[in-house]
Formats: sequence, C-alpha cells, structure tokens
Amino acid sequence: MGIRFPPPGGDKVTTQNPPATLFIDGAWVPASDGKTRTISCPADGSFVAEVSEGTREDAERAIAAARRAFDGGAWASVPAPQRGDFLLRVAAELRARKDEFARAETMDTGKRLVESEIDMDDIADCFEYFGKLAGQNAGRIVDADNPGVVSRISYEPVGVCALISPWNYPLLQAAWKIAPAIGAGCSFVLKPSELTPSTAILMMDVLERLGLPQGVANLVLGPGAVVGAPLSESPDVDMVSFTGGLETGRIIAASAAGTVKKVALELGGKNPNIIFADADFDAALDNALNGAFVHSGQVCSAGARLLVEEPIAERFVDELVRRAGQIRLGGPFDPESETGPLISAAHRDKVTAYVRKGVEEGARVRCGGAWGEGDLEQGFYYTPTVLDRVTRGSSVLVDEAFGPVVTVETFNGEDEAVELGNDTHYGLAGAVWSQDAGKGQRVAARLRHGTIWINDFHPYLPQAEWGGYGQSGVGRELGPTGFSEYQEAKHIYHNIDPAVTGWFDARIEE
Ligand code: NAD
Repeated sequence: MGIRFPPPGGDKVTTQNPPATLFIDGAWVPASDGKTRTISCPADGSFVAEVSEGTREDAERAIAAARRAFDGGAWASVPAPQRGDFLLRVAAELRARKDEFARAETMDTGKRLVESEIDMDDIADCFEYFGKLAGQNAGRIVDADNPGVVSRISYEPVGVCALISPWNYPLLQAAWKIAPAIGAGCSFVLKPSELTPSTAILMMDVLERLGLPQGVANLVLGPGAVVGAPLSESPDVDMVSFTGGLETGRIIAASAAGTVKKVALELGGKNPNIIFADADFDAALDNALNGAFVHSGQVCSAGARLLVEEPIAERFVDELVRRAGQIRLGGPFDPESETGPLISAAHRDKVTAYVRKGVEEGARVRCGGAWGEGDLEQGFYYTPTVLDRVTRGSSVLVDEAFGPVVTVETFNGEDEAVELGNDTHYGLAGAVWSQDAGKGQRVAARLRHGTIWINDFHPYLPQAEWGGYGQSGVGRELGPTGFSEYQEAKHIYHNIDPAVTGWFDARIEE
C-alpha cells in the first residue's frame, strides 16, 4: 500500500514517493497529478502520514473499476454464505491487527488510544454481525393466493455504491457501510474524510490481502468537492451512502437526484438528554458528562441539550459544572487524559464562534468556553463548556456544536419534556432518565428520534437500526434494515399454467 504508519512521535515512514495510497481496480496508485496531503495529529501537530490527494479523474477511474467489477459479477455471483464468511475473516483480521489500527485512528483524530481500541472492537463486531446476516438472506416465497403461480422475492445487490464518511469515528462509520455493501454483493468506492484517511487505507489492505476480487473495493482520498462530488453525480453509481453534516447531506441529495440514485444519509443531531427529578441522580449526572463530553462532543448523538426537571435542576447543574471543570484534557497517549482535542483549527474556530454567538443571544457560560492552555496550545483543545440561561429558538439550541458544549434548559412534567425534546429539526437520538419505568417508556414513545436510551447514554448495537428522524437523515444503518439498504428486492412472478387472458377480445378476421 506504499505507506507504513510511524509509531507515535516517530519519524516519517513512507515507502514510495509520491505515496500510492489510492486503491483503484486492485492496485495501489498515487494521485493522477502526484499531489499529496500531510496528515498531522490534532493533539500536537505531529506528523502522521503523507497520503495521495486524489483528483476528479481518480474518482472517475475508481467508479469505472467498481462498475466493471459489479457488471462482471465476480463478487455479486459469489453465494451469500461465502460473502458472509469473507466478512467474518475480515473481523478476525481486524482483531489481529487491532493495535495497528487503533494507533492509526488515534493519530489521525487525536482521540485517546483506549477509545480507538473500543472503536476497533466495535468495528470487528460490526463485520461479524453482517457476516452472519449475509448468509441468512436467501429471499422469500410470496403467497400469491393462486395455485398456478409461484412468486418469490430475491434480494440482489444494489450495485455500485459510493460510501462517503466523516472524521469523528473514521473507520467505524465507514465499517457500517463497507460490511453490508460487501455482504450484499455490491462493489464500492470509499471516500473517507480528507482529515482522517489512515484506517481506510489499512482497511483496503485487509480486503486486498484476504482476496476480495479486483475492483470490488476502491479507495479515493481527497476533499469532498473534488473526489466526493463525482461519486454522487455519476450515472454509474447506483447508491450513495453518506455520513456527515446536514449541509453536505443536502448537497449530496440534490446532486444524486440528477440520476435518481438511492441515497442514504446519516446526518447530525441535536440530542435531548432528559433528566426527571426521580432519576438516579449520580448515574444521570455521570452519563450527562459522558453524553456531552466524550470525544470532546464530536459525536453525532452527543447529549448536547440537557433538559432537567425543575425540582433538581439547580443541584444537578451545579454538580455538572463542577465535574465538567475537572475533566482532564490531554494527548491520546497520556494515561491521565480523559478527553482529547477537536479535529482541526477550523473546527475549533467553529465551536468558538458557536459559543460566542450563544453568549450574544443571552446564554451564560457556567464553565469552559476557552481554548486549552500551556502544553495544550500545541493542539486544538477546547474546554468542556456548560451554557445556561439559553432562550428558546436561540442558535445554540438549534444548531449542532459538534464540540464539548452542553446547553441547559429546565422543564416540569412529561408533556413539557416531550415538547422540548422534540423541538428540533433533527431527530437522531435522545435519552430519558427516570426510576419510573412507565414514565420512561411513555416519554420514549413520544420522542421523535431514531434512538432513545432509557437510563443510559450512547450505547448502540450492531443488530439494532441506527439513523435519524427529520433532518438527521434518510434510511438506517446497522440491523437488518441497514443491510437491506444495499439490496434491491426483486419480485419474480412465475405463472406455471399460462393461458389466454381474454382481456382484449380481438376478433381475428380470417
Ligand atoms: P462533512 O459533511 O463536512 O464531511 C463528511 C464527508 O463528506 C467527508 O468525507 C467530506 O470530504 C465529504 N464531502 C464534503 N463535501 C462533499 C460533496 N460536495 N460531495 C461529496 N462528499 C463531500 O462532515 P464532517 O465534518 O466530516 O463530520 C461531522 C458531521 O457528521 C456532523 O454533523 C455529525 O453529526 C455527522 N455525523 C453523523 C453520524 C450519524 O450516524 N448520523 C455519525 C457521525 C457523524
């Protein structure tokens, strides 16, 4: 693959110049114009890798390769159980190379090594889940209510898929697409975030070594407007599956409409974390911190909108502020650090502007609202921030910060909790905290979000669908629905006793 990743703090290690880190039609190639991009760790700016910066022409070559592979049937015609076995072998390989993958992910994102290790376990679980599911997906017989008809549904691969992924969970978000695409028999072009390409490169290495046929898996690297746009525009792509921001999702959906391709969108969220007065206080508080500040809030399902019932609000928020102020920021390999930096200087500027605007609109900064100081100045750190006195409709309650910022609102009773919890154009996830199981279930049923946790925050299961209501997206990932996104259902209707219908009673003149 033309590149090896250096150990943390180690020297630049490349094996080719320019690096050949695009994987197109079964070969590792440099960008068509030889351009490269340097990937640096957002925790301290240290060198991570020099990778190819692809061009539009590279994206078009990758699409053509995926098209040829699909139309040639080299993978789609492999029996589904064998495709499932392949995914299980990928999972085993990922487990064997977990350290290498976790380090690469951590260097690209700046997230703590332990978090990347958890991500790698989740990714292997995802491949295992879809590996088992792929083998079971044989189609079904339909009762045609007519003894002269045999009718069945066959599930066929959707074709060539464009898989476009973000930087916050780089390989995890890509794996939710790659595994079902391979399992269903599709071919694909993967376009990871230009900021975090390393684990996507490693993943292609795994797929190549395990013998996926040429052209089934392709990787292009580079900015969305250059190598991403052709993927949603091309008539040779049958489906685009995108995870990222709402604005980019709108652009992709509009451009995919030109060729009426299938579109799956996993977009942002503005997720309510609802704490009733009868909640387990300590568990709710601890999870409110996790919900808002894990991975410095760069999580689509972050609990960025805290709703606390009036009787406990003051004590809960005081304690939240105290604990948030104690969170230790630090580098990914520092055993003392509890969370890391933001992904880039530009993203930190965005979070800074978001908080500033909130303050202009009347919010009060209870803690945080500052850049990291001292050693942290080498990276893009932003301190955990709690905003209260937010007014309904203000920008901090509407827009996604995608940083370590949580807003606080108060409510009384179930109706108001539901009304506030649904007051968003997003609809990705939310949580309800109460020791009254009936209340938890009632409120969960009324919230318009794709995932609701009761007395927990953040867990997800590969066997359970993930996705958004409203402007959080279209379609689902994971679970059986996340698999069927990569399939077309074909109805084959066989009349085993053909006869004249007599519909048109043509009198044939002799
Ligand atoms: P982004 O929208 O900026 O970029 C996502 C990907 O799209 C990148 O690979 C980017 O290069 C590419 N892209 C950009 N413009 C494009 C274009 N015109 N055509 C094709 N591709 C293009 O998002 P990001 O900043 O990388 O990620 C953060 C966002 O992702 C947040 O809004 C977050 O909520 C969302 N997210 C959602 C989920 C979910 O499951 N719903 C999961 C993770 C992240």
